[in-house]
Amino acid sequence: MNNSLKQAFIGLDTHYPVADGRNARRIYLDSAASSLMLKPASDTVQLYLRHYANTHTSVHTSAHITSKTIAWAHRQVLDFVCASPQKYICTFLGSGTTAVANRIATGLSILRPQKNVVLISSMEHHSNDLPHRVHAKKIEHIPLCGEGQHSAQISLQGLEKLLQKYQGRVNYVAVSGVSNVTGIINPLQKIAELTHRFDALLVVDGAQMVAHMPINLDALDIDCFMFSGHKVYAPGSPGVLVAKSELIEALQPMQYGGGMVGTVSKWNFNINADLIEREQAGTPNIPGAIALACVLKYLDCLGMDNVYAQEIELTQWTLEQLATCRSITIYGEHENIAHIASIAFNLKNIGHGLVAAILNDYHGIAVRNECFCAHPYVHELLKEDFEELADIELDNAGMEQLFQDRRGMVRVSFGLYTTKNDIQALVLGLKDIENNIATYKPHYAPQGDGSYIHKTFHPMIDQLFNIEHELLAQVKKY
Ligand code: PMP
Repeated sequence: MNNSLKQAFIGLDTHYPVADGRNARRIYLDSAASSLMLKPASDTVQLYLRHYANTHTSVHTSAHITSKTIAWAHRQVLDFVCASPQKYICTFLGSGTTAVANRIATGLSILRPQKNVVLISSMEHHSNDLPHRVHAKKIEHIPLCGEGQHSAQISLQGLEKLLQKYQGRVNYVAVSGVSNVTGIINPLQKIAELTHRFDALLVVDGAQMVAHMPINLDALDIDCFMFSGHKVYAPGSPGVLVAKSELIEALQPMQYGGGMVGTVSKWNFNINADLIEREQAGTPNIPGAIALACVLKYLDCLGMDNVYAQEIELTQWTLEQLATCRSITIYGEHENIAHIASIAFNLKNIGHGLVAAILNDYHGIAVRNECFCAHPYVHELLKEDFEELADIELDNAGMEQLFQDRRGMVRVSFGLYTTKNDIQALVLGLKDIENNIATYKPHYAPQGDGSYIHKTFHPMIDQLFNIEHELLAQVKKY
């Protein structure tokens, strides 16, 4: 990453005290959960805020500017995902992908009640699984190629079998473009062809895709595509749905209120003909939507092919570096399978929660652990780890602790700002843990749920950031 890119993100020089007394630069390897803010986008929103007003009127100048700017934001999203405005619309909804998935699951189940089966891949985040479970009469999980630790992409054969089994009854197929656990990239082109051959719709969760690789909705003919702005360098921005206009037009609105209606009497109301307004009842998250659109324009200037090439290379390089840790298990098949931006692993006989805690407390490295809201997938990936438990003899408490230690994994995930130096620090940290676990472990108290807390090192969070103090300091300036 060149230096100017490094300065383009907020939070890359944040320092925190660590347990050995140093003040260490935070190394942020948790971008799959939420990525850091792109500064030019944040700066542009600050400039826009001079004109801030609500939408839904163009009578005064600020409202006019806002409506125009929001329309620009919608166009940027469509442009970015190569969705032609003749075929697709973009709407902003709630806080992220979860809100969008719920909207789609509700809408499609009402729209096509005779097609009451939904096929969901076995690697989904709960957000692209549970809403469909709740609204569809019947769901089936599409198997993956391979099994256990070596699980790979969604099985096309498995998908075809299910489409055949429920021929004529499948409402839609819900898959993610990229796994939020292993970073495995799914073959969307083939999934789309198969799904459409059986006259079902395709709903794609692009939450882990949009920041890392190009996507072309026109070419893939995806019916509904969703993602979260906060995972694309725009914290605080809304969820995004890009869907075929004819489909959205056929859906019943999900939320009612201001903005989505035309005239209203005590007895009647007529719904706004404008699809975007109809879908976005109430006041949209205007600054968030603008921030996101600015980010997408920025990424477009960098070129998503370049971003993809850079991140694939970094992911591959990281996999090779991690493989030098003697006790590591990296989850998800790697032979001929592309992974991007997320890697999940465990160190042998060291709980996922303990590894994550030591990385944070002694190395200043922020990672995530446990099951990443993808429990069925993570449990499949952990199959061999669980099987080993059968051969271990321990008392009940020991067994419970061991189970908690194994019931999860550690995930590192990248953004544009992630450097090879960050990865080297991670690998050094992991080797340090492998070599010195006997020294580290007595410093930690297991919490009974897989997490560990340091017995004596408790950074003074309030001294690092106290919102009331910061606010008061800002207020005093005025
Ligand atoms: N899908 C995937 C693949 C995700 O990674 C996430 C967030 N971790 C979600 C859906 C849910 O996104 P949000 O929390 O922004 O609604």
